[in-house]
Amino acid sequence: MISIIVPCFNEQESLPLFYEEAKKVLEGIEQSYEMLFVNDGSSDGTLDILRELSEKDTAVKYLSFSRNFGKESAMYAGLQHAKGDYVVMMDADLQHPPAMLEEMYLAIKEEGYDVVAARRVSRKGEPLIRSLFSRCFYRIINKISSAEFVDGASDFRMFSRKVVDAMVEMGEYNRFLKGIFGWVGFKTKWVPYENVERVAGGTSWSFWKLFLYSLEGIIAFSTVPLGIISIIGVMFFVVAFVWMIGIIVRTLIWGDPVAGFPTLACMLLLIGGSIQLSLGIIGQYLAKTYLETKRRPHYIIAETNERKQNEDKQV
Ligand code: UDP
Ligand code: MG
Repeated sequence: MISIIVPCFNEQESLPLFYEEAKKVLEGIEQSYEMLFVNDGSSDGTLDILRELSEKDTAVKYLSFSRNFGKESAMYAGLQHAKGDYVVMMDADLQHPPAMLEEMYLAIKEEGYDVVAARRVSRKGEPLIRSLFSRCFYRIINKISSAEFVDGASDFRMFSRKVVDAMVEMGEYNRFLKGIFGWVGFKTKWVPYENVERVAGGTSWSFWKLFLYSLEGIIAFSTVPLGIISIIGVMFFVVAFVWMIGIIVRTLIWGDPVAGFPTLACMLLLIGGSIQLSLGIIGQYLAKTYLETKRRPHYIIAETNERKQNEDKQV
């Protein structure tokens, strides 16, 4: 059985189009499949459409969150609830072409891969500054993290059951999928695809949101920033020590002429700033640890049709 997980946040325009398209492709490759939609607290008619679709098609399952918990939580819920032997993640906006499903399915089923991931070959149609930051992010994170991050790798992926189980086992609260994919490993096949425009609606990612998200990724998959601030601390200490000796020697030889106020002011600002920065970085890790220790649920399901269908079976 194939499960496809589709996170939906205000996708009322794209959903019906996505459903038609995905259904057509799925029916061509496998008789048994489920479409698991996760409504991530949409404020438009997304939930109504999901209810409707599930009424007329038993392959449609949906989980509806009590509010917007973010795409990461929606994906996690999807992974936990997917029952298929093969699980696919894809966006509802048709940016991930369902036509590629067949190729992915064959790669796992016949070629012995555990993961098949779509990889964007061009960043065409993306703002220049965004591409630039994105490249920097991948360069940095790959230097400082043990998990592999692949530039252009999308969330459009198919997994075998054991990979899904491995990802579900990573129950961390601060989830960063791109890191989780690399961290769990497994034999991965990359299939190239061209960036397609969204069919309807707008992206919910602003530049600022993406930037913060990339910082999340660094903090979730690397502790190198903590090491860097320790090294900066040591450097400051060494410089300060040498300088101190110099001042003492100078005073002993030439007396104390009371000069050097600008130097003093600069040093104060520099050291003060670096302490502030270091505290900030430590604070980030501490905050993540704090959230992690609360062990809150990743999401709250307000409504679903899953149980209803099981009850139908029992009757
Ligand atoms: N999404 C979600 N929760 C959110 C934001 C987005 O479930 O808080 C879903 C959205 O409905 C879509 C997918 O995540 O199916 C990708 O979102 P989007 O297309 O806005 O991102 P982009 O493709 O621009 O990276
Ligand atoms: Mg999109």
